[in-house]
Amino acid sequence: MPSIFTKIIAREIPADILHEDDLCLAFRDISPKAPTHFLVIPKKEIVSLADLNDEDQAIIGRCVVVASQVAAAEGLTGGYRLVCNCGDDGGQEVPHLHFHVMGGRKLTWPPG
Ligand code: 5GP
Repeated sequence: MPSIFTKIIAREIPADILHEDDLCLAFRDISPKAPTHFLVIPKKEIVSLADLNDEDQAIIGRCVVVASQVAAAEGLTGGYRLVCNCGDDGGQEVPHLHFHVMGGRKLTWPPG
């Protein structure tokens, strides 16, 4: 199921990468919905939240910690939102699990 994000991990297409480690990658969203908008993805090819197994716990935990650390590095002191769209009804377009981090403005709730 290689997606566009697999190509970003492999550096086959460019991205503005903010963090990389053995388990995950963080990079700026190509079409930002907030002044700061980046994605955190596992390097493992997991399609969505619906495909997680117990063995993925450390990977997902690492992604959330990286989201927090990169948000701090980006200066999001006023807060931010962590979003994971799952499947068609959840609005997921790229079939590689990813967490959106959006901040830098007052966000509204609920999303559509
Ligand atoms: P989804 O709707 O699947 O939750 O969000 C996918 C996100 O990936 C969107 O916000 C979209 O702008 C972003 N995106 C799609 N293709 C690319 C790309 O090639 N590079 C980067 N940096 N972001 C992408």
